[in-house]
Amino acid sequence: MSVPYRIVTCTNCNLQEASLILNGYFVWRDSNGREASFDRELAICRDCCTVTPIERLPDRDEFDEAEEASLAGFWRKRALKRKVYRSFWKKSLIQEAIDPTSGFEVLRQVMGLRRGPVCLACGSPDVSSMSIPYGHDTASEEPVPTGTIHPGCGGELLVRGSGGERVAVMLYKNVYDIHGQFVERTRE
Ligand SMILES: [Zn+2]
Ligand SMILES: [Zn+2]
Repeated sequence: MSVPYRIVTCTNCNLQEASLILNGYFVWRDSNGREASFDRELAICRDCCTVTPIERLPDRDEFDEAEEASLAGFWRKRALKRKVYRSFWKKSLIQEAIDPTSGFEVLRQVMGLRRGPVCLACGSPDVSSMSIPYGHDTASEEPVPTGTIHPGCGGELLVRGSGGERVAVMLYKNVYDIHGQFVERTRE
């Protein structure tokens, strides 16, 4: 599998980070070995002082609504309509889809912690999501300002596309606990 990607650079230092760090399959695993997959987004971590992936957690109101429906015993029908929930039991390239009931149970534990997303590199909660300018095209190699300041450096982060270049990605399954702390990485 090959993908186009984005490269983040800084106006003030030689930082260069590719959005390829978002690739792979990411799951939370609870103490009973049940798993839920989750999406990532690019962010800056003030502990790593760089661009890093963080968890993308569901909207609290939407989650509360789905949990209410779950307690009432009819969550599947309602929750499955919502794209945000579908992502939590999606399958990897080679694995079967996660069972929605156990996926939802893991998600419920994560949301029950009432925590924000953490850095998937170091586990720190000191992160801010980094917005990629709307409509940014990976075909464009022109660096575009993002309005995000590089922590510990002061320069502004720029993003550019990889142009026509695509790279093959190694597929890994990245396992985290419900606190977002790294557990293990296995080759798919
Ligand atoms: Zn910098
Ligand atoms: Zn970090």
